[in-house]
Amino acid sequence: MALRKVLLEGDSTLRKKSREVSDFDQRTQELIDDMFETMRAEDGLGLAAPQVGVLKRIFVMEAVEENEATAFINPVLIDEKGEQTGAEGCLSLPGLYGVVSRPEEIRVRAQDIKGDEFERTYSGLEARCVCHEIDHLYGILYRDKAKGGLHSLDEEADEGPAGETAVEKRVSAKAVD
Ligand SMILES: [Zn+2]
Repeated sequence: MALRKVLLEGDSTLRKKSREVSDFDQRTQELIDDMFETMRAEDGLGLAAPQVGVLKRIFVMEAVEENEATAFINPVLIDEKGEQTGAEGCLSLPGLYGVVSRPEEIRVRAQDIKGDEFERTYSGLEARCVCHEIDHLYGILYRDKAKGGLHSLDEEADEGPAGETAVEKRVSAKAVD
């Protein structure tokens, strides 16, 4: 396994559409292993392949409550319910957060490393993360959906009374990819 460099906003790769994966081979396994290692080193909840410069429809996520690490190959949202609005961050836009509305609950279908299909239902933070990661596969960054633009985590934290709120946002923003 090896750490991969996370691309930052401004790199044109992050704005490109990823390709469907058809090879469920050792190379794909190595990419996924590296993505897990990179996600953990960066303290992220999720990471999409384009963020490490690979335009393939793959993302990884570490579900908090289930304490379960999962790789999603060729993922598609097959159902969504409700709405949640909250702070979101991205490893490709360090030090920033924004307020984004996402479905409260989603159902995702994907393939595993053997090519077998599976489906999962997530709510709350994990649902937010899955939507955020699938957006990456279409070249969409959360900046495109943030209401009122993006804010700096550091500036907010120094603002006294608003500071406490900002810490909470920092935690949740850091937790999402
Ligand atoms: Zn992201």
